[in-house]
Amino acid sequence: MKKKSDLKPDRAIHSKAHPWHGVSIGAGSPSTVNAYIEMVPTDTVKYEIDKVSGHLKIDRPQTYSNFCPTLYGFIPQTYSGDRVGERCSRQTNRKNIRGDDDPIDICVLTERPVTHGDILVTVIPIGGLRLIDHGEADDKLIAVLENDSLFGEWKDISDCSFKLLDRLKHYFLTYKQIPNSSDLPKVEIAEVYGAEEARTIIQLASEDYNDKFRSRETSSSPAS
Ligand SMILES: [Mg+2]
Repeated sequence: MKKKSDLKPDRAIHSKAHPWHGVSIGAGSPSTVNAYIEMVPTDTVKYEIDKVSGHLKIDRPQTYSNFCPTLYGFIPQTYSGDRVGERCSRQTNRKNIRGDDDPIDICVLTERPVTHGDILVTVIPIGGLRLIDHGEADDKLIAVLENDSLFGEWKDISDCSFKLLDRLKHYFLTYKQIPNSSDLPKVEIAEVYGAEEARTIIQLASEDYNDKFRSRETSSSPAS
């Protein structure tokens, strides 16, 4: 029998996976997906993943007075590209909406407070906000933590109270507003949608991801 000290560390096992590229979208996608949490409501500064290293970093010191109302992060291996932009254009009758070149953002409802980010959770999408930021589609999906004892029963956005939705909308419409500035950010929420549309967005964003990142892997791999 091998002694513990004889076991060679395996790089593949001991390297931390990049939360965007190295973590799966989830075997049950688009009905059940993984979400990487960057922010929780008690955070007083804005954290965001560093897209190159995969580490969480301080995006900007907080100059605003608002707090993110829920856990907030993104779905691994998704990308808001051409398909997500076109979907937004079609559903809102606006021309030339582009994707925002980021993974799909997601708000996660949980009964118990989660005290820090940089964690992975399994969630059920129930809807989303169709947010347009300077002509770019920046969908904010809304999900419940899988098996959550309070929110786990929710299946669709119609289960969500208007007050909670209003709070989420208010947060995303004001979170980039700089105090004492007369320049209002060009952010709007074109519509609120349910679980079926949320699953469509995830599907399209997964295809956008494969186009953007998988095709590059294939074309750069040496011919055998
Ligand atoms: Mg985004």
